[in-house]
Amino acid sequence: TVHIRSLVKSFGPHAVLKDINLDISAGEVCVLIGPSGSGKSTLLRCIDGLEQIDSGVLKVNGEHLGFREEERSFKPLKRKELRVQRTQIGMVFQQFNLFPNMTAVENVTVGQIMVKGTRKAEARERALRLLAQVGLNGREDHYPSQLSGGQQQRVAIARSLAMEPQVMLFDEPTSALDPELVGDVLDVMKGLADGGMTMMVATHEMGFAREVADSLLFMADGYIVERGDPREVLANPQESRTRQFLRKVL
Ligand code: ATP
Ligand code: MG
Repeated sequence: TVHIRSLVKSFGPHAVLKDINLDISAGEVCVLIGPSGSGKSTLLRCIDGLEQIDSGVLKVNGEHLGFREEERSFKPLKRKELRVQRTQIGMVFQQFNLFPNMTAVENVTVGQIMVKGTRKAEARERALRLLAQVGLNGREDHYPSQLSGGQQQRVAIARSLAMEPQVMLFDEPTSALDPELVGDVLDVMKGLADGGMTMMVATHEMGFAREVADSLLFMADGYIVERGDPREVLANPQESRTRQFLRKVL
């Protein structure tokens, strides 16, 4: 579902992702860990089409992200085309980024109508179903300011799911939450994983990595240093950089 070869991404002179090679298959849950500044967010933002890559191959669902293939040449997508292509990818951020002037159900409805052209009644029906799925029955008409952080994050997850993505990316989705609110969000994510969603998750929640992830990927300094079965990597890291990092976080 996600296919990356020799991906390079720099900001000015500063190379942030250096020769990333990665495949994520359908239904796989991959957890990303690594020191601050190692490039986790940048990698997720590239896969979400928020950052343009400098070179390499980045395909989501067999399509080059941001490009259309035409007789062996690549045409950059127009803004609107990119927006439609990006509906295949859902992203959830540390800061929930909800629209503050819209209720929960409006937050989950608006993208469907504006980007996918879904009819209003159908969009609302899907929004209500998804809000129930993330445990927000009865909160549909609350504004973000009337919801806890954990509830806001679950609205954000529902909003992403409403676009019917093939892949869900999570960038430290529980890092901004009070500890007692983390579990509800992780439970929703576990439910998604159990339902077969393809997921990439940058997180410090090693319990989630151990119990839910199919693979654990350790990044450092713009490279993927190590990747493997989460329990094996956590118990028996092969690379010294991974060992050093885990010693600090475990
Ligand atoms: P953290 O664990 O702190 O979230 P991270 O692994 O997500 O870190 P990134 O946010 O991807 O790391 O940042 C990787 C590097 O890229 C950092 O050195 C950062 O300063 C740099 N960087 C990220 N975004 C930009 C930008 N828009 N412009 C310039 N430099 C950037
Ligand atoms: Mg980050």
